Amino acid sequence: MNKSFLGISLITLLCFEVIADSIGQPGEIFPVMVENKSTDNHMGLVEINGSFYKLVPLSFSKQGKYIVFNDTRIFIQAQDFGESRITITNDSLVNLNDQDRERTIKESAMIQKALKSYSKDMLSSFNFINPVEGIISSRYGKKRFINGSPRSPHLALDIAAPEGTKIISPENGKVILVGDFFYSGKYVIIDHGHGLLSSYSHMSKVSVSKNDIVMKGQKIGEVGSTGRVTGPHLHWTVYYENVRINPESLLKENYLESLL
Ligand SMILES: [Zn+2]
Repeated sequence: MNKSFLGISLITLLCFEVIADSIGQPGEIFPVMVENKSTDNHMGLVEINGSFYKLVPLSFSKQGKYIVFNDTRIFIQAQDFGESRITITNDSLVNLNDQDRERTIKESAMIQKALKSYSKDMLSSFNFINPVEGIISSRYGKKRFINGSPRSPHLALDIAAPEGTKIISPENGKVILVGDFFYSGKYVIIDHGHGLLSSYSHMSKVSVSKNDIVMKGQKIGEVGSTGRVTGPHLHWTVYYENVRINPESLLKENYLESLL
């Protein structure tokens, strides 16, 4: 038996136990209990089973890293979400001309601005319902390749359905952006309150307007193939405090309780 080897292993193990306060998965939300609620009124605390929690989103981009909230350190585990390869034959949609590139930069700025403008007055129940009946065609976190070239990971859920299939709001909220964009096509962002937002891309038809209040289950539009797509589907993104999280997780029953 090699004693020094055993010694090192033991030290590594002990250190790991001291450092790893908590472990979470990329794209998920981690609840950190906050004892004194009165000092933290503006942080968007949620009550779960009688205690108050700060929900910390675990960013996809911080896999293998620690993030810190108050005294809690959360290690975001690295996870393999698989890959997705798509082919886009229309080259003008892949290698943009100057005019289109300028357009995408403006549109991206509009979207970023809207995402930061969420309401602190509404509070979501975090109980989403499925926005569209269909078949999941690409999950959250997949490595993306377009025509063989690596692109940004797919931090949304794709649900394929025939053109014209009804899309509903998964939760109460307020429509804060409606647009027709180069990549996203006909597009809507809904603010559900306290940092929880959702967006809907590639619709054939939008049935809501900016500033509309929508109820859970209310129709917001129809599935389409507008923008840069390979076929009709809903590209559904969920944001929590500007971090794209895994939309499928929000569909769990009693989602908040499931986090504890
Ligand atoms: Zn997608």
